[in-house]
Amino acid sequence: MYQTNYNWTLDSIMEIYNKPLLDLVFQAASVHREHHDPNKIQVSTLLSVKTGGCSEDCAYCPQAARYFTDIETNDLLSVDQVRVAAERAKKLGSSRLCMGAAWRSVKDNADFDHVLDLVKTVYDLDMEVCCTLGMVSEQQAQKLADAGLYAYNHNLDSSEEFYKEIISTRGYEDRLKTLENVRKANMTICSGGIIGMGESVEDRCQMLLTLAQLNPQPESVPINALVAVEGTPLEEQESVEIWEMIRMVATTRIVMPKTTVRLSAGRTNMTKEGQVFCFMAGASSIFAGDKLLTTPNPDIFEDLALFEKIGITVQQPYEKHAKPNQDQNRTYDESDQVKWSRPDHVIEANEKYKALAKEKRAELNHSKPS
Ligand code: SF4
Repeated sequence: MYQTNYNWTLDSIMEIYNKPLLDLVFQAASVHREHHDPNKIQVSTLLSVKTGGCSEDCAYCPQAARYFTDIETNDLLSVDQVRVAAERAKKLGSSRLCMGAAWRSVKDNADFDHVLDLVKTVYDLDMEVCCTLGMVSEQQAQKLADAGLYAYNHNLDSSEEFYKEIISTRGYEDRLKTLENVRKANMTICSGGIIGMGESVEDRCQMLLTLAQLNPQPESVPINALVAVEGTPLEEQESVEIWEMIRMVATTRIVMPKTTVRLSAGRTNMTKEGQVFCFMAGASSIFAGDKLLTTPNPDIFEDLALFEKIGITVQQPYEKHAKPNQDQNRTYDESDQVKWSRPDHVIEANEKYKALAKEKRAELNHSKPS
């Protein structure tokens, strides 16, 4: 039996990544079959519960307030809006609802209390509940867990080295600290990254090494292909080739054999055959829904038709882990305030796009009829 290994080295992961493709896929498929049903896919729906207006400067993200993009922003969705979306997602095969809010970090305020209500609402529908809300303190993570949150998503995005080239407003250590806080609250971790941002193969493998050294390893690792959005500093990046996606999925599967490997953003640029190749290489989950937060995603009915054609069934909620218990009676240490870092480096491309956005907004204001 191929067991979880916490002693990977960068060289050993790179050696796997660079194998002849068919050897790599064969090895990954063999590992996959030891730990997972290869004919089952877990489906998650990603719902943006608060879109845009984020204070961070992630170079790939159209939700960063400092860039000029054409996304529609919205304030927090209501409990009813989320309930309707969750019920629909469940009916169409999703076992998990992941709610995303474009925040730097969670603040202890009415918005967070509202998110806790959203978590309880989805929990009561017997779906796995996941949130991605930015950085969380230990106490905030515990509040989410007590509301019934099953998983917390917080991506490492890339290697620590490359991270400094795409985000200047927070440090890599902040990401790791949040993952630690999530673990302390006994929630499952969802953390992965994006390929196609201009990073090297070494950066990709270094990110996998960092994730694989977490003990326990994350239960879920999303692998995203960059969707280059106009107005962001990465708008001119070319799409990654499907072969790179297959290599990344297969390597993730081998390095973290028990995790759910999620084929995430970028599926609209992949053929169906390419996606099936990724399933063979160990991807065991997709995100469903017309949009992934703000970027396009295949139609769920197309996904379901593909599953039927190739004999895949969908995983049920809590099929692999027990449903968490809620705790409505815990008291919290309200003095638990975290100071997240603000690295003092400047990323020229991000600054350039911030300046461009300012100019465009000024032009727009100028051309408005008075
Ligand atoms: S990725 Fe998240 S933190 Fe970064 S700008 Fe977008 S919404 Fe904000």
